[in-house]
Amino acid sequence: MNTTKRNLLRTTGVAGLGAIAGCALPTVAQTRIKTPFEVPVTTIPIVGSMEVFPVRRIYCIGRNYAAHAREMGSDPTREPPFFFQKPTDAIQFVPPGQTMEHPYPPLTKNYHHEIELVAALSKGGRNIPIERALDHVFGYAVGLDMTRRDLQRAMGDQKKPWEIGKSFDQSAPIGPIHPVSSFGQFSQGAIWLKVNGVVKQEANLAMMIWSVAEQISQLSAAFELMPGDIIYAGTPENVGPVVPGDVMEGHIDGLPPIRLKVV
Ligand code: MN
Repeated sequence: MNTTKRNLLRTTGVAGLGAIAGCALPTVAQTRIKTPFEVPVTTIPIVGSMEVFPVRRIYCIGRNYAAHAREMGSDPTREPPFFFQKPTDAIQFVPPGQTMEHPYPPLTKNYHHEIELVAALSKGGRNIPIERALDHVFGYAVGLDMTRRDLQRAMGDQKKPWEIGKSFDQSAPIGPIHPVSSFGQFSQGAIWLKVNGVVKQEANLAMMIWSVAEQISQLSAAFELMPGDIIYAGTPENVGPVVPGDVMEGHIDGLPPIRLKVV
């Protein structure tokens, strides 16, 4: 396919999404046919489909398992959920059955794994009630919320945004999306992460403080959710460091594991 045709298709796609979302006036960028350079669109393969899932935003919930909240120094019983975002292009797709190389990022000396369930939304909205929230979920995936823990902590100590600890390049490895229509909802089941074959994190999805439905409801009170938003649903306890050469394997019952070698 030549470049002109590809640009035209991409522009048509953007206009289509805008129409679905009910956007009022298109922005200047959306009406342009030609761009001076190309910016890749972030997508994630969908199991059983030739289509791919277009990612709009990556939301993450903090401290959503009680034991992890305690290890991070907070009291899980008193705190409402809090959220942060990663840039969309932080996604690193990890095909099942392969060991993907994952680059050790710059600036850190304490790089941590966080295994998480990821919910991918195909419907948006504001102030979504909990009882209807799961209707917005298109599918689920295994993800890692990789974290430069030393930078996150240092920024937190200075009461500065800890974006540099969380929202860096390739900080969001993820497996393929498994549609709810074929694989159902994921509200319980084992979730674990091994490093070099040794179990480091191990819990059950049922131990989440805020369920996926509650997360969607809470998020939609703060932001208008849109199709293409994905939510990293929080990590269990025993987060810890990896170094170059380590192999991480992440598992959630009902989903194929993802494997990454830190390089
Ligand atoms: Mn996390």
